[in-house]
Amino acid sequence: MSNSNHHIKTLKILVGRYQGELLKVLICTAAAGALLILIPLWVKALVQIVLPASDLLLLTRHLLSGLLLALIIQVFLFAKDFIRLRLSHSLGADVRRQIFEKILSMPLSILQEKHSGDLISRLSNDITVFQDGLMKGIFRLIPNAVILLFPVSLMFLHSLLLSVITLFFIAPMAWTINYFVKKIRSRVKASQEQLALINNLGEESIRGVKEIKAFGREDQVKQRFSRRNRAALRAFVAQDRIIALNPVLVLMITVTSIAALIFLCTFMVTHGLLSMGRLISFLTCLALAFSPLQEIAHSFGFISRLYAVMDRFEEVLRIASEAQEGDRLPDLPEIAGFIDLSNINFSYDDGFALKDINLKIAAGETVAFVGPSGAGKTTLLNLLPLFLRPCSGTILIDNHDITKCNLESLRRQIGLVSQEPVLFDGTLMENLLFVKPGAGETEIFKAARAAHVDEFARKLPRAYHTRIGQYGSRLSVGQRQRIAIARALLVEPALLILDEPTSALDTESEHLIRNSLEFLCKNKTTLIVAHRMSTIRSADRVVVLNDGCIVETGPHKELLSRKGLYHKLFSYQDFH
Ligand code: ADP
Ligand code: MG
Repeated sequence: MSNSNHHIKTLKILVGRYQGELLKVLICTAAAGALLILIPLWVKALVQIVLPASDLLLLTRHLLSGLLLALIIQVFLFAKDFIRLRLSHSLGADVRRQIFEKILSMPLSILQEKHSGDLISRLSNDITVFQDGLMKGIFRLIPNAVILLFPVSLMFLHSLLLSVITLFFIAPMAWTINYFVKKIRSRVKASQEQLALINNLGEESIRGVKEIKAFGREDQVKQRFSRRNRAALRAFVAQDRIIALNPVLVLMITVTSIAALIFLCTFMVTHGLLSMGRLISFLTCLALAFSPLQEIAHSFGFISRLYAVMDRFEEVLRIASEAQEGDRLPDLPEIAGFIDLSNINFSYDDGFALKDINLKIAAGETVAFVGPSGAGKTTLLNLLPLFLRPCSGTILIDNHDITKCNLESLRRQIGLVSQEPVLFDGTLMENLLFVKPGAGETEIFKAARAAHVDEFARKLPRAYHTRIGQYGSRLSVGQRQRIAIARALLVEPALLILDEPTSALDTESEHLIRNSLEFLCKNKTTLIVAHRMSTIRSADRVVVLNDGCIVETGPHKELLSRKGLYHKLFSYQDFH
């Protein structure tokens, strides 16, 4: 768990940009506090001077001045609350941006281990708690601590001895507060974690609603949700109990301390150690300190919650970005596309491994990767854009070790059509422009025609300006694949990675697409995972993978003539 000092430092940096705003909060609070003191004086004047005078004009003037005073106080209070709210939201937005940028920059291998519901929870629920913690914690504590300075310094002026004794009473209070801060922090963390679990389940259920309905598993999912919901409720109740108990205990200690002080004072007065006048002034100061103390006592609960979610932010922000490692490295120069993988070993945490991969691919060559599912085809291809980093061995592209190049310059030269292309919620045109924002219409339409996107796009209600839904859900998987291919055509990278780019296409569309794929692959090094004989046949070479190893490699016809795994996989196919 990160310590509180660390969080205070982080907060200082965050607030740094808004120092002026914080100052305004302090000024408004102090002004409102000072003006509030005038109210008893106003009442006193009303009772002692204005009412006995029975002067209607004087009364009206006094009442109007009272109204004006109330109005001015309210303006300061409004300004304080509004600026405090705006400040909390601005800081929340800053942290949200930082976390989002961190998520984007995380290595893919780490990101895949995280649950998106949990990450979204950090961007939403946790930020709400964070803003609340600032608003009702820190930004309440600071002005009240400032206000507290007045009566406390007056107290010291009146009686040094009493003030020193008062300080002794602060010790148990500090101890109690510290105990609660820790306790609340861990409880809040637990409840935010429960909330994240609910987010995970909610997200998964919405994405998988078709499967849930098709298999009639609604009841089971509902029960699972209820269980998590109850667990979250329990965690929140545990948290609320301690949050509610905190100010009560702190105030009890304060009141007890005050009673003890009064007792002590009386003793001192009766023994001639303290004058009556000083005692009264001292007690007045204590009374003035009570309200800010009460506010401060309440603020600690919120500060603990703030620290709890900051712990959760830290967990994400601590993860090293891949760019941090790669940013300072030299750019990979313009590549021709000669690939040399030597002695590559890679393994996921849970066991599957690519073992001793050695493979050279000439510039401009098209290589088809085949093998049973789970053989490691996708894993192998993910090494080239360094989505995954090999545990040992080297990957050279045009004789440059790619792990020693700037990531952005590497990825810019690789076109990727993944197994499950993900589109974004926007229009079809926006999805095409996404990969090349400056592309002109002619260029786009050319790519769209070549990838046979044009045919279905024209039939959509608003053609290229039709919104295609989250993840492109309003399109068929085959249509999404065609868009992914059009994207790759637009970028024209030197190295193309196609992971089963036609797996969801029917034979007819596949036939159409094949031409565009061939066109796409021309003069580019192409690595293509394929199941279709037609695609495999057009490759220069086939690499057969099984259980993380390259078991055979050679041209399609040659492999079929050998009696190996490839023969078994494809012997039923007609290869004319
Ligand atoms: P293919 O593309 O050949 O079907 P993959 O490369 O996707 O196979 O997967 C190969 C093996 O690696 C599978 O056994 C799979 O369970 C495992 N695997 C894939 N992705 C991950 C991951 N992110 N974490 C752990 N194991 C994974
Ligand atoms: Mg795969």
